[in-house]
Amino acid sequence: MSAVLKTIPSVSQPDSMNIPFIDLAAQQARIRPGIDAAIARVLEHGQYIMGKEVTELERQLAAFSGVRHALGCANGTDALQLALMALGIKPGDAIFVPSFTFAATAEVAPLVNATPFFVDVLPDTFNMDPESLKRSVQAARAAGLNPACVIPVDLFGLPADYDQLIAVARENGMSVVADTAQGFGASYHGRIAGSLGDIATTSFFPAKPLGCYGDGGALFTHDDEIAALIDSLRIHGKGSDKYINDRVGLNSRLDTLQAAILIEKLAVYADEIDARQAVAQRYTNALSNRFQTPHVPEGLTSIWAQYTIKCASAAERDALQARAKAAGVPTVIYYPIPLHRQNAYNAFPRDPGGLKVSDDLSERVVSLPMHAYLKPEVQDRIIEAVVG
Ligand SMILES: *Cc1c(COP(=O)(O)O)cnc(C)c1O
Repeated sequence: MSAVLKTIPSVSQPDSMNIPFIDLAAQQARIRPGIDAAIARVLEHGQYIMGKEVTELERQLAAFSGVRHALGCANGTDALQLALMALGIKPGDAIFVPSFTFAATAEVAPLVNATPFFVDVLPDTFNMDPESLKRSVQAARAAGLNPACVIPVDLFGLPADYDQLIAVARENGMSVVADTAQGFGASYHGRIAGSLGDIATTSFFPAKPLGCYGDGGALFTHDDEIAALIDSLRIHGKGSDKYINDRVGLNSRLDTLQAAILIEKLAVYADEIDARQAVAQRYTNALSNRFQTPHVPEGLTSIWAQYTIKCASAAERDALQARAKAAGVPTVIYYPIPLHRQNAYNAFPRDPGGLKVSDDLSERVVSLPMHAYLKPEVQDRIIEAVVG
């Protein structure tokens, strides 16, 4: 995320030459009066922790995604950790994660003393490969691990192949935690990402499609018991009262101020999703005969957290990035090093067949500026620079 973090300061200093990667300032200009009023209301009532805006946002998020329970928490990484804690993950359990993702997806496994097991992704959707998952489950068993949970990621905003991945999980007695930090609001055969898996998690990091003005996250589940457990775990394992501790938990609440901001942002989210579709379609129309543009399978929609193209080679990508930079167009590589090659994770097990697609993608993909407020004339400048 460091590249995204670096791009954020440019949004507060509008500059006709430099194009922001994600234009949070344009969104803020649209919703600023509502945000100011929402923040003022919280300052009035003063319930900064678990105030009524948190409950109200949770109600709206559950309605938006069609799940029984939505629960706020401190960030998207905690959401994943809380999910694994609620599922009772323990030492010796293998947690299957794609290698081509943000580190948080894998990070939470060792945090609950389990083993992350790296699975390869598909070359067209960049999401978890069900065949690689099957090989990995066999290999984990052979290594004496207990296959316990799969964490599919909705990479760049496109839902993973849940039907197939859930089928493999069920055949092997595993739970499914859907990491939809990048995909919340995308659709999968009529269902919203956020309603898939035993538990779905998301992040409200500012640069995510639905972001707040700081850190935030949420979990989603249809299951009443799991929801009650998560509610306890996010507040120090509380029992009937906060000074009664039934289990070891975390301090992981969503701030009332962030919930108040998110209520305002959720009100324009459906409209922003439509705008993102239009931006993505324009890119695809202009770039598909030159690069491999994103593939969206039948029955799915992407939320376009990133618009990511595949170049023919690493050299072509280098040239594209140099051209774009010279034209004041930011581009970012998500992700330059797959997790199974990172110092923190290279000792953990992986698909015995290798992670060829993850390796290949990290050398050839590049993401272009993408947000709901990208104007056609600015997008034309980006396209011109990218095509060269
Ligand atoms: C951003 C992200 C997370 C973590 O979210 P934070 O709120 O930054 O902790 C987890 N998984 C994926 C795929 C992400 O992109």
